[in-house]
Amino acid sequence: MCGIVGYLGQRRAYDVLIQGLHRLEYRGYDSSGVAMINASGDLNIYKSKGKVEALEHFTQSKDLDGCIGIAHTRWATHGEPNDINAHPHVSQSQMLALVHNGTIENYNVLKEALTLHGYKFVSETDTEVVVQLIDYIMQTNGCSLFDAVREATRQIVGAYAIAVIDKSKPDEIIAARQSSPLVIGVGENNEYFLASDATPIIEYTNKVVYLNDGEVAIINHQTGLHIFDAHNTDESEIHITELKMSIDELEKGGYPHFMLKEIFEQPRTLADCISGRISSDAKSVVLSGVIENREKFINAQRIIIVACGTSWHAALIGKHLIEDFCRIPVVVEYASEFRYSNPVVNKGDVLIALSQSGETADTLAALELAKSQGAFVFGICNVIGSSIPRATHSGCYIHVGPEIGVASTKAFTGQVTVLAMLALLVGQMRGKVSEETLETVATDLRRVPTLIQDIFDRLNGKIEDLAKIFTYAHNFLYLGRGYNYPSALEGALKLKEISYIHAEGYPAAEMKHGTIALIDVDMPSVVIAIKDKVYEKTVSNIQQVKARGGKVVAIVTEGDEVVSALADHVLEIPAIVEPLTPLLTAIPLQLLAYYIAVNKGRNVDQPRNLAKSVTVE
Ligand code: GLU
Repeated sequence: MCGIVGYLGQRRAYDVLIQGLHRLEYRGYDSSGVAMINASGDLNIYKSKGKVEALEHFTQSKDLDGCIGIAHTRWATHGEPNDINAHPHVSQSQMLALVHNGTIENYNVLKEALTLHGYKFVSETDTEVVVQLIDYIMQTNGCSLFDAVREATRQIVGAYAIAVIDKSKPDEIIAARQSSPLVIGVGENNEYFLASDATPIIEYTNKVVYLNDGEVAIINHQTGLHIFDAHNTDESEIHITELKMSIDELEKGGYPHFMLKEIFEQPRTLADCISGRISSDAKSVVLSGVIENREKFINAQRIIIVACGTSWHAALIGKHLIEDFCRIPVVVEYASEFRYSNPVVNKGDVLIALSQSGETADTLAALELAKSQGAFVFGICNVIGSSIPRATHSGCYIHVGPEIGVASTKAFTGQVTVLAMLALLVGQMRGKVSEETLETVATDLRRVPTLIQDIFDRLNGKIEDLAKIFTYAHNFLYLGRGYNYPSALEGALKLKEISYIHAEGYPAAEMKHGTIALIDVDMPSVVIAIKDKVYEKTVSNIQQVKARGGKVVAIVTEGDEVVSALADHVLEIPAIVEPLTPLLTAIPLQLLAYYIAVNKGRNVDQPRNLAKSVTVE
């Protein structure tokens, strides 16, 4: 995780860096820091534990001049979050400052070697080793910063995006990446921006270059941008991508939190996600990444979906969708488990990598593993140009716009929507989905944005009130079955991550095999009891909870009278074909978690210990 920003140009670097850090704060907020070189050649470094706001406070009345600088917002992996471990880290010679996103696996060995050469370390981070190593290479080889960075990248093992400045060269930033993202923004008159994603760049320029793994960039105010392969002298061709993102998408737009804004955006984001992909007569689905690889999907022996966190829950729904519509066996794996499990991957397998950010380190590693074993790899991501879409054979974006709240909401429904379209399309290609089924499901998919709006109109106030009743519960159980068992897992995760209340998601029928022992009057259960094929069974599960004095909040299909008579509270959602119900049940679950967290005074957008875009393993 962590966010990196860099600037080189004519403006005051500090302003660009601080604004950029705010945009990247979702990636980590343990500490932040800036390093700038001013017109007199001084290297000024300011760091502070906590949020960017604390840094701004700390830098008041400091020398903030200079048109070149680098900055960092941290999600600590090595060393506690404090001022000393905050980036930028400075070399022993006091000439270099460096920021890093990632983890250096061999930092101990390098640290020992550098210590023998007289280097003293002030922080506990793995990062400090990198700046000292570069310093050491420059001193011993008498080489340039660029050559030293290139040499250092050959010696360090791990994941990194780094940016380094040298006090004696106030017109140059050197950057490099391996497995952590780095984007370079290209402005007018040799003005350059550097960041972990494009959000800090978009307000200055829409022209960006994505650095590839194993590349080192020289960003020079006189000579411009040059990118080289770290392992040879080859200069890479520079591919400029034009971004379509707008600055409004990065603001809260009047909402108190990004999370609430993103929840309420779902009617629009899902309309965008579907747009141009379902024909107006709902008779066909077009996903070019699938159509161009028709044979791979038609002949797939098995589909493996790898994902983490909320994406893993979307993947479980994807399994139901693909197995129902395509009759292809699907396995869903935690990316982090898959990659270390000696998995059996065959040539006829299709691996789908599901990740909002497209940077999830474990998912990326899992797809590389499957690719090396001959699988066809397909990405479903949100962030355009991110690492997973670039590493896969083909893929499909969810197009829900930047998701900034750390707890995923609109990306989850976007992922489920894409998986539903993919399942329909592949099912049709394989002759497993009739024209009639396709039309029925696609028609309902097109109705989803309106139905979600209807849920907001009817339930938002009710859920806000309901949250007041449950704010002080210490434990929650979330129950669901079939398509909505993953929804129960996701509902529980939402509550845990933003309210810090313990919650468990369970398949409703499994409860009686153990978890039921937990139920008492203090442990509320949120039960998804919509009219699906196991409705009656879910009703019995509710009765079992009620019989033990448990309180039940039930999410039911509009007009349900049976559950309404049993449950303590009901939230009605509109009827829709069963495979699409997770898109609607997600909404009250997101709102319930949100309002409970707000009542508890939690930092909803930046929950403790978490960060978005998990680029560490
Ligand atoms: N490993 C570095 C640290 O702990 C960077 C962390 C990160 O990128 O998340 O400071």
